[in-house]
Amino acid sequence: MDFLSEYESKELLKRYNINCTPIFLCSNEDEAVNKAKELGFPVVMKVVSKSIIHKSDAGGVLLNLNSEEEVRQAFRKLIALEGAYAVTVQQMAEKGIEVMVGVSENEQFGKFILFGMGGIFAEVLEDYSLRLIPLTREDAEEMIRETKGYRILKGYRNFKADIENLTELLLRVSEMVERENIAEMDLNPVFAYEDGYMVVDARIRIG
Ligand code: ADP
Ligand code: MG
Repeated sequence: MDFLSEYESKELLKRYNINCTPIFLCSNEDEAVNKAKELGFPVVMKVVSKSIIHKSDAGGVLLNLNSEEEVRQAFRKLIALEGAYAVTVQQMAEKGIEVMVGVSENEQFGKFILFGMGGIFAEVLEDYSLRLIPLTREDAEEMIRETKGYRILKGYRNFKADIENLTELLLRVSEMVERENIAEMDLNPVFAYEDGYMVVDARIRIG
């Protein structure tokens, strides 16, 4: 009944060709520095801890780290947080339109997927759509079209999302849930771009 860590969740997602930020798990400072150099600055570092669920609330997400010294300081800060046993070093994703993809289970109907706008849209407008798993391509297309945010996603002012690739993301999540017996999943946020998307945070529960 345990949740996979963000690192483990992203490793699993990658096996289904779902785009996630390149990420490394590091247990010491030098390793973090080496991986940051390998990725190229800026990088993002996050705490890995069984007892922390909302990483940013706990001060466990450090963005836009630009030098070896910043990475060293970040490592020390993160590893001191409650229950921390490692940190992740990951690529800093370019800003996109924030959307989210969730999976959950209803006793009566079974597993379903949620697609919605992320960030303030999610909080204020509760703008999301739901479908039972497995999804057909038509389901996935409808889910995206149903949200209020679709007007933004399809292209509004200087916002535009790659609807085709978001559709593909929903279909891959549906397939993955079936094959891996996933009970719960939270991809939040996913950054949607004019060309493609990137899963920035992920949390998966098997079972
Ligand atoms: P939490 O556990 O608090 O949900 P997240 O991993 O979602 O932590 O990080 C909080 C916020 O930091 C995200 O909503 C996103 O805006 C930003 N963020 C996290 N990881 C990255 C990344 N790799 N690149 C760019 N921004 C990121
Ligand atoms: Mg998150």
